Amino acid sequence: MKYISTRSGAPDLDFEGVLLTGLARDGGLYVPENWPQFSKDDIKNLRGLTYSEVAVKVIQPFVRDVIPDFDLKALVKDTYQQFNHSATAPIKQLGPNQWLTELFHGPTLAFKDYPLQLVGRLFDYILKKRKNKITIIGATSGDTGSAAIEACKDKKSIDVFIIHPKNRVSEVQRRQMTTVKSSNIHNIALDGTFDDCQDMVKDLFADQVFRDKHNLSAVNSINWARIMAQIVYYFWTAVSLGAPDRKFIYAVPTGNFGNVYAGYAAKKMGLPIDRFIIGSNENNILTRFFAPDNIKGRMSMSPVVKTLSPSMDIQVSSNFERLLFDSLDRDGKAVANALEAFRKNQTIEFGEQSWSEMSKIFEGISLSDEETKASIKNIYNSTGELLDPHSVIGLMAGRKAKNINDNIIVSLATAHPAKFPDTVNKATSIYPNLPAHLSDLFDRDENFTELPNNIDTIRDYINKKISERSA
Ligand SMILES: *Cc1c(COP(=O)(O)O)cnc(C)c1O
Repeated sequence: MKYISTRSGAPDLDFEGVLLTGLARDGGLYVPENWPQFSKDDIKNLRGLTYSEVAVKVIQPFVRDVIPDFDLKALVKDTYQQFNHSATAPIKQLGPNQWLTELFHGPTLAFKDYPLQLVGRLFDYILKKRKNKITIIGATSGDTGSAAIEACKDKKSIDVFIIHPKNRVSEVQRRQMTTVKSSNIHNIALDGTFDDCQDMVKDLFADQVFRDKHNLSAVNSINWARIMAQIVYYFWTAVSLGAPDRKFIYAVPTGNFGNVYAGYAAKKMGLPIDRFIIGSNENNILTRFFAPDNIKGRMSMSPVVKTLSPSMDIQVSSNFERLLFDSLDRDGKAVANALEAFRKNQTIEFGEQSWSEMSKIFEGISLSDEETKASIKNIYNSTGELLDPHSVIGLMAGRKAKNINDNIIVSLATAHPAKFPDTVNKATSIYPNLPAHLSDLFDRDENFTELPNNIDTIRDYINKKISERSA
């Protein structure tokens, strides 16, 4: 499989290349040159398989030329064996036509473990083969950081620098990152928002000398490997609930657009998905974009607001670029021009044709903090499910969606309620406890460095830490 950049100005790469590269050199994101196709029979043949077995079938076409099937099977099996639920991603019924896939049974209790536990193993596998080292730099709104740290700790071939926005992640989230004791893990608390952290990562990648010196790579959803591993649970869920004979609508709590974009990829691969409902908090740039009267396709940034669902406190959804690439007929120059203009002017019109095409498959629904809290309570009272503030936004987005017809609605639960215990407690008077493997989290020592939002300072810090470790 060949991968191409959404801005058409970087070399085409194979899977090994995209995994190790992360962000394309022209600032774009890698996507497969074409989508592997699953026929109805291929989809039927997934029935009755375990999560790991489905994962192997879905991932194979993306990696086959660089990872032998035998090795892929072993890596995938080892990954999902470690999860805390025997179904890996259990699916629950919450209403007559409403289902919920729980993606919080990995080590750090958010859906990001599902891709990153595998990505960590893929890095290790390929770096051993190449006898090479990399430096991972990641921005986190809370959950990517801990999932990446957990996936890469103690791996000799990887140094990990995770940048989180100071005081803007929950205490559980921060402690999950800062209490991991491993000499290759470095936590930075940046004085800024998540968007500032994400821009910092992009700017570090744009420094080609620095980038080459340390072999930078990424664990954010700008890395294609992450999206690839997330396609799996769309297949897993749909097949479990009757695909290819039924059609689906997925409701996805969305920040960086990575998770829902993986669903779009599944649809492109032949999974019968009618549409996606994008759930967001008050940072609702996508809801505004997909509003029915926004026919010129205007997208405009506004300042990031702090909400009860911090992992979605994002304005600029980086994976939207991958969707845009398709909607502009894979014209990389047009994507580059549009996004540079958007950066500069904070607003852009993508045009009626491109917008109406995207609007056929995406709808946006946003919830205020008050609605989020009320919904956690209502859902608990009516179904017995205790949901975290992100998952409940996904669920409510599904419930509020229009034109459901006879589609099955599935929402994705992206975090365990114990990751956001204060909000859940305020809403329901129930304090969700951490699972056993994290029960002493609040007693562990923390380790992180506070740094200003200044690229020179961050670069110096990274240089220093790497040279200390190799000394
Ligand atoms: C990261 C995250 C999201 C947003 O996912 P994207 O892929 O960035 O859209 C939603 N919920 C939780 C709990 C998360 O950690």
